[in-house]
Amino acid sequence: MGEKKMHILGTGTATVSKYVNTSCVFDDGESLFLVDGTGGTDVLRCFDRMNLDWNRLHEGFLSHEHTDHFLGMIWVIRYIGELMIDETYDGDFVLYGHDEVLDKAYKVCQMILKPQGMALIGPRIHLVPVEDMQRETIWNSTFTFFDIGSSKARQFGFHMEWPDGTRLVFPGDEPVTDHGEQFLDQADWLLSEAFCLDRDREIYRPERYHHLTVKESSQMAQKHQVKNLLLWHTEDDTFGERKKLYTEEASRYYEGKIWVPEDGEVIIL
Ligand SMILES: [Zn+2]
Repeated sequence: MGEKKMHILGTGTATVSKYVNTSCVFDDGESLFLVDGTGGTDVLRCFDRMNLDWNRLHEGFLSHEHTDHFLGMIWVIRYIGELMIDETYDGDFVLYGHDEVLDKAYKVCQMILKPQGMALIGPRIHLVPVEDMQRETIWNSTFTFFDIGSSKARQFGFHMEWPDGTRLVFPGDEPVTDHGEQFLDQADWLLSEAFCLDRDREIYRPERYHHLTVKESSQMAQKHQVKNLLLWHTEDDTFGERKKLYTEEASRYYEGKIWVPEDGEVIIL
């Protein structure tokens, strides 16, 4: 195992034009693990630009059905399928998610993929449903998947523990609620959405979409003594100044280490 890294593909909310939609790739030095797909072909461009090798990617997770997370995963399935057909991809690809989102992914693929590509779903591309609070050893780590309790569309997040004990929580693109909160205590990393600055809450009204401000995400991280807080899934009107403004606001409510990555950044975990 090499260094543990997180490649940030995108950091934006659904309707941004200056960022790629929120998505990342974990990297243990050997293989990759993709978290959500972005909203489209951005995922292909990100892999190319960031020198990520598709042949190192054999597992991924899809949190929910919304456009900005879902549609890029259809491209991932299509693209890996093409590599398989060209015999330039060894092994299989496994996508985890709850049964509804995987069922929708399957149906979309069925409607729009070519038969040759579609024929690989099952034999070599596996859509593997997970249940709420299911614990699994995947990608050398211990994952616990959990239902975040979204009222918009059924959405799962996960807690993962790396082989060296590093604990990371990905609660999808909504606040941590219900039984998700138990995983936060003293977690090493929380990847939290932060729709906008608290000072701009009247402009964006994040509560309408069940999203948090930077202040609220920071308070949640502080409450649970999380060691590293990563903020993403943001608006893009603060483009160019986001890192400074978001870090400033977060530091007023949270004492741990704050990360406001740009698209394309690589973070050593
Ligand atoms: Zn989203």
